[in-house]
Order: sequence, then C-alpha cells, then structure tokens
Amino acid sequence: MELNGKRVLVVGLGKSGVASALFLKKHGAKVTVSDTKSGEELHNEIPILLDNGITVETGGHGERTFRGQDLIVVSPGVPVDVAPLVQARTLGESVIGEIELAAQFLPGPIVAITGSNGKTTTTTLTGEIMAASGFPVLVGGNIGTPAISFAERAKPETLIVLEVSSFQLETIRTFRPKVAVVLNVTPDHLDRHRTFDVYVNAKARVFENQQPDDFSVLNADDSTCVALAARTHAQVFWFSRQKEVERGAWVRDGNILFRNEKGPREILQVSDIPLKGAHNLENVLASVCTAMLMGCAPEKIREAVRTFRAVEHRLEFVATVKGVDYYNDSKATNVDATIKALESFPANIHLILGGKDKGSDYSVLNDLLRKRVKRVYTIGAAAAKIESQIVAQKDGGPELVRAGTLENAIRRAHAVAQTGDVVLLAPACASFDQFKSYEHRGKVFKEIVQALAG
Ligand code: ADP
Repeated sequence: MELNGKRVLVVGLGKSGVASALFLKKHGAKVTVSDTKSGEELHNEIPILLDNGITVETGGHGERTFRGQDLIVVSPGVPVDVAPLVQARTLGESVIGEIELAAQFLPGPIVAITGSNGKTTTTTLTGEIMAASGFPVLVGGNIGTPAISFAERAKPETLIVLEVSSFQLETIRTFRPKVAVVLNVTPDHLDRHRTFDVYVNAKARVFENQQPDDFSVLNADDSTCVALAARTHAQVFWFSRQKEVERGAWVRDGNILFRNEKGPREILQVSDIPLKGAHNLENVLASVCTAMLMGCAPEKIREAVRTFRAVEHRLEFVATVKGVDYYNDSKATNVDATIKALESFPANIHLILGGKDKGSDYSVLNDLLRKRVKRVYTIGAAAAKIESQIVAQKDGGPELVRAGTLENAIRRAHAVAQTGDVVLLAPACASFDQFKSYEHRGKVFKEIVQALAG
C-alpha cells in the first residue's frame, strides 16, 4: 500500500488510533484524526499528534472531514455503522481497521487469537512459549501494543502473536494469519453486534483469507466452533478438554497430547499447569496446539507453561483473610466468563455480580448459583436486572444482598464469610458505570482486600 501523499482519516483516538495516525504520517500521508470526545478528554493524545503535523478534529465528526479521503482507518471502539462511515462507504471510500493496516506492513507470519473469552491469557501464554522456543516474537493487538506499532520493528522472521477482537475483524480485508485460533464463541457484546449471528460472522472473518498451507485451530468442545470449521480453507486442528481429536491437542489420563500426520506425542501433564479452572486447560490446549504447529519443541512448551502465571484480573488470587480466599476476576465481563469462574470452585462462594449490563441473560447462571454459591452481592447499574433474573433463595438460590458498591460488597462478604469460603469478583458486566475500566475495578477490589488483610 502506497501512503506517500495520500489523504488518510483516522477515526477514533484510542491507543490503536494514535499509533495508526503516527505510522501513516511517518509514511508520508496527509493525516487527519477525528473523535467524538472533547479536546479536554483527549488532552493526553492531542499534543503528540499536533507535534507531528497531524490535523485533529474533536467533539464530533464533521461531515466534510470524511469527504475526499483516499483511506479511512477506523478504530475498534467505533461502531462500523455510524452515519459518517456508512456514507463514506456509499461514496466508494476505502474503510479499513488498524489490524488491516498493520497486516499490509507486517512482513512475517501472524498467529491470531480470537474468541469470546481467554484471548489475553492464550495470547500471552502463546507468546511466552514462542519466546522460550527461541522465536523472535512480538505480542500485542487488542492487548498491550497495537499491531501497527510492530510494523517498523518486525523483520520477515519475526513471529507476531496477536489478540484480535470481533470489532477488529469487522474491518479487515487481506489480513491472513498463518495460524488462526478461535477459542470459543458465546454471547457477548450483543449491545453492539445486535445478534449472535452477526457476532459469529465477525469472528469467522479471521479465516477469510487463509489458504490451504495455513492452520485454523478450533475448540472441539464448542458447538459454534465446530460449525465454523466448514468456513475455512486452511487445515483444521482441534483442541479438546473432553475427547480425543484426530488432529490437534487433547487430554488422556492427565497427559496433554498432540497429534498430526506423524502421530501422537506427549507434550506435558495437566498437573504442570499452574492456573486454576478448566477453562485455563482449554487455553493451554489451544496454545500447545499452536506452538506445535509452529514447530516448537515439547520440552520448551512444558517449561513455558510451568512458569506461566495468571494474567492480572483473570481469576487472580489476591489474599487469604481469616481463612477466606479472595479472587479478582474483574475481567469476567460477560456471563460465560462468570460461569467459568464459578466452575473453578466447588462450593461456598460469595459472588459479586453487576456493573454495566451488556444485554446479557443472567438466568444461565442459576444452575451454578444453586449448587455453589452461598450469597450474591449485586453492585452497579445492572443490579435490578440481575436480581430479577437469578433464582430466588426460596427456590434454592443463594441469599441475595443489594450491596450497591464494590466496597460495600466486600465488607458485607467479609463480615459473614467463614473459613474455607471464597469471595469472588466475577461480575458478568462491563465496569463503565462505576469504574474507568475493568482494570480499575480489579485494582480497587485488590486494594480493599489487601487493606482487610492488614
Ligand atoms: P479475553 O481477552 O478474551 O477477555 P482473558 O484471558 O482476559 O480473555 O479472560 C477473560 C475472562 O474470561 C476472565 O474472567 C477469565 O477468567 C475467563 N476465561 C479465560 N479463559 C477462558 C475460556 N477459555 N473460556 C471461558 N472463560 C475464560
């Protein structure tokens, strides 16, 4: 793609928008950026853009800003159907996302990891396995460093491991991963994607440009993933926690095996995995399968898995206070992640639920609430909706406490929890009603718990 002298508009000034704008400018484009946020809200981002000779529009998208651009690069935070973008497309302008821009400038192989849950954990672990195996590797995408920032640094032999979200996949065109992993597909972000089918279709786009010498890695235990296998031209490898697979990674008698055309090999033992929960076994299986496809040695894989630690805010152990274990799973921002968190503890859970609702159905938690949860503490804007959908105490459900705030929830739990109980923040909601982000929510949780621990 030739950028020199081209007029390019970057829409949305998140991390990836800023990185894209600077990259485009460096390559000779005439760059404008546009964001609906006010100049004040963007006071951290604006100076570096202006210093680099980039035109900045804030507080809304001017209609004329979108006219006559050679290229529009849209950030994953901006819905693809906002009016100025729809109009730009009808006028024949080219609209792509940052991942697509990056794909056009990254010379080496890409491993792309997507799914509703487990992306960050699997991407981080895969990156660590690759590094331990001696690959020159860069890890980022939807987490950490935007993919476009790697364009300057990556050499043809550099392996790029990217976490990609459904929003990023909606704006690809030529993006072609050597290995594309779909971990699972469960309802999430239905506030933005509207229907489950639209969401599944966005995820499936990760295969769109793959060829027969590429690999698609899919979860054999997830029915949506199984259906997706028909949509790829690449070689399908499976991973499964529950059954033997013909090609891919699975579990037999506590061992993780991998099989390709050369036959099965033992890679490591389930007991080597230092992470809690069956879902993390799935993440490890996906990483093992990917690493074997990329030619890593089993000893290196084993070593990297053994030394891996939970990523912050993902079922992260915080402290034991008066015999009660506190876990921070602030990243459980959807119902499925909360289910996985509940499945990681056999009983006696004090569960903190709530925040900003994403159009979720909380009644799917009821089975686990009946069996494993002593008390539910609701917080934030979604409290009333959650309370109306979860099973009542008189019907075998947990005791319900309207806590309102996270701090109050922790205090109420601390007051009654007994030795052997678990206090779990796995809220099944976004954080933005009371916090800046899920990270902020998790940090506040940890601070309050650590203060209780003295
Ligand atoms: P993502 O980047 O897809 O949001 P994370 O690794 O950050 O994934 O984990 C998000 C949440 O989902 C956490 O609460 C975590 O405990 C849970 N989780 C992790 N892996 C899985 C999985 N394979 N299936 C379901 N839930 C998972």
